[in-house]
Amino acid sequence: MRETKETATCRCGKGKVVIVRYLEGDDWNRFREGILSETIECVECRKSYHIEHICKHYNCMPWDSDGEIDVVYLVPNDLTLDICTEAKSLPFEHFVTFDINAVGRFTKEELSLAVKDMMDNKFSTRLKDNCSKSLVELFYRANKSKKLSNIIQAVNECIEKYDSYEWNYSRVMEFRNIERDQIEKNKELLNRNIKKSFKLFFDE
Ligand SMILES: [Zn+2]
Repeated sequence: MRETKETATCRCGKGKVVIVRYLEGDDWNRFREGILSETIECVECRKSYHIEHICKHYNCMPWDSDGEIDVVYLVPNDLTLDICTEAKSLPFEHFVTFDINAVGRFTKEELSLAVKDMMDNKFSTRLKDNCSKSLVELFYRANKSKKLSNIIQAVNECIEKYDSYEWNYSRVMEFRNIERDQIEKNKELLNRNIKKSFKLFFDE
């Protein structure tokens, strides 16, 4: 295990903040990193501040891999930077299950129109409606089949049970609207708290 000690000057300028990080590799050359300890060594700053991190995900050039930047702050004790500013991911965004996706992404009316399109045009290659085309793709992703009679049956079951799904499209929209407002407020709050905090600059 490799340890690195990083030191920054504190808010008042008379003391130090020390972070000890570790990097640990296993037999398969996989690495884990983390923090062993972090200390405000200044008696004055320790009275009014605590340490918090903001991990910023950044996208590098395509030929490089993505990475994370860890920004460290001394935060006034009555404030926090631990404020959620990201949209929650909903079940259909990380499961391939057909019904969860169909119900989460489309209204009941869109599903009914898609069934009509499938019955009118009979082959998945002749579909006209964008919703029905998407449903064929979603069904294929979940079941590796594009057989329309099976898809029609599955969509009809979705329509029948539509209101019993926790995340049907109208509930998703309702949730996202409220969430969007909350995220805006949280971003403002986070920015205010960052302005009242002191960003630390470390040298190893
Ligand atoms: Zn200090």
